[in-house]
Amino acid sequence: MTAQFMPPDASIAPRYTGPRTFARLPHLGLPLDGVDAGVIGIPFDTATSYRSGTRFGPEAIRAVSATLRPYHPALDVGVFEQLGVVDGGDVEITPGNAQRTAEQIDASLQPLLRAGIVPLVLGGDHSIVLGELRAQAAVHGPVGLVLLDAHADTWDQYYGERYFHGTPFLRAVEEGLLDPGRSLLAGMRGPLYGRSDVEQPAGLGFEVIRGEELRALSPEEYGARVRERVGDGPTFFSFDIDVLDPSFAPGTGTPEVDGLYPREAFAFMRALAGIEFTGFDVVEVSPPYDNAGQVTALHGAAVAFEMLALLAVARREG
Ligand code: MN
Ligand code: MN
Repeated sequence: MTAQFMPPDASIAPRYTGPRTFARLPHLGLPLDGVDAGVIGIPFDTATSYRSGTRFGPEAIRAVSATLRPYHPALDVGVFEQLGVVDGGDVEITPGNAQRTAEQIDASLQPLLRAGIVPLVLGGDHSIVLGELRAQAAVHGPVGLVLLDAHADTWDQYYGERYFHGTPFLRAVEEGLLDPGRSLLAGMRGPLYGRSDVEQPAGLGFEVIRGEELRALSPEEYGARVRERVGDGPTFFSFDIDVLDPSFAPGTGTPEVDGLYPREAFAFMRALAGIEFTGFDVVEVSPPYDNAGQVTALHGAAVAFEMLALLAVARREG
């Protein structure tokens, strides 16, 4: 039990007081002794094909995350008692330059990973995952990928740009950062440019569960598919908020109708309890397109908390 980085006691001052860090946790420079997981913002959004605005994703998620409480009833775990978690601030990114930003992300995250700190990244558009995976692979070797996303993000280029939010997982395979044979991509849906878009991720060696198939699975069946696929090796979990239906997540870069209900997504996530992921991200929250209730950011914060709960359960069991 660490418990040295708890949020301030909400019975003394209301949760809307104080600086807006993730879950009201201390904002501290990383790496740091006693920290198991670090929440890191990557406010980069100039590799988007449609709507931008995710540069304000980390700030919006942090703001609404003030409502999070430390105990997770469904998994019966005191997340911030089990884990030392702090908000490590933002990576210094370069607007308009996805390649340089990927290098900055890699350089910023490697010291955390080498110190045994699991990064939980708040995006940002999905291009940022390339830098995250470079850091993961540098420390752990090629990692498996668990992806929940309306899109596979394995396209080759947009407008001649190869470093884009629809291309990171193809680049990651080309760079040897991912083990497609240990990866499962789920939730893909919506119209595509052609049949080849359906076949292309599987052609790279990924297992794909399209949205309609995913919704027919029970959480237990999904969890079993993931466990069988990823095995015991290092595994990264990426959650693109657009896997949720746009009625629950309108503030995102590339909305697609007929998505997951939040309760489905959370049940799928909880079915992964016990897997010790080596990194997480929640991407594509675009506050300028969110509603007055900040529902997209609210779900983004909840997904991030679920990820910490998964890590807390894995560490408790480990
Ligand atoms: Mn994506
Ligand atoms: Mn997507």
